[in-house]
Amino acid sequence: MIRDVHPGASDVPDEQRCPKCGTDGLPVLIGLADESAVEAAAAGELISGGCMRLIDGNTWGCSSGHEWAADDQAWTQAVNRALAGRPRCRGCGGATRRVVYPRALAYLSETVGLAEEIAAGEAEMAADDGPPDVYSIRICRDCRTVAA
Ligand SMILES: [Zn+2]
Ligand SMILES: [Zn+2]
Repeated sequence: MIRDVHPGASDVPDEQRCPKCGTDGLPVLIGLADESAVEAAAAGELISGGCMRLIDGNTWGCSSGHEWAADDQAWTQAVNRALAGRPRCRGCGGATRRVVYPRALAYLSETVGLAEEIAAGEAEMAADDGPPDVYSIRICRDCRTVAA
């Protein structure tokens, strides 16, 4: 891929930079924002788009409000990166990850992508059954505090 190089240019691929103003793009997350998405948006790592974005098909945006469509795989990676470890620990501010109880494996919706999450360090299997009716919790990777 050919990149135009100029002073101050970042190392992000062209398609992830705004075609109008050239600033680095952020992935636009479609749909209702959960706590993790709100936090990532506040940290400037993604744009929380709401439901209307489904209509125009634009998946990237810049800080000046321009929007454009680009590669889906890069978008998925960027969103995963922005949401990784979120929501952050309320105690120490560290990254959190899911602890999944074995009973969750009986429910498909809880296990889709679980292997990938575990491989990425975003989830772990609990060694015990945990509290009744609980399928997964989030804990801090650093202080092991259970995230609210
Ligand atoms: Zn722009
Ligand atoms: Zn912590």
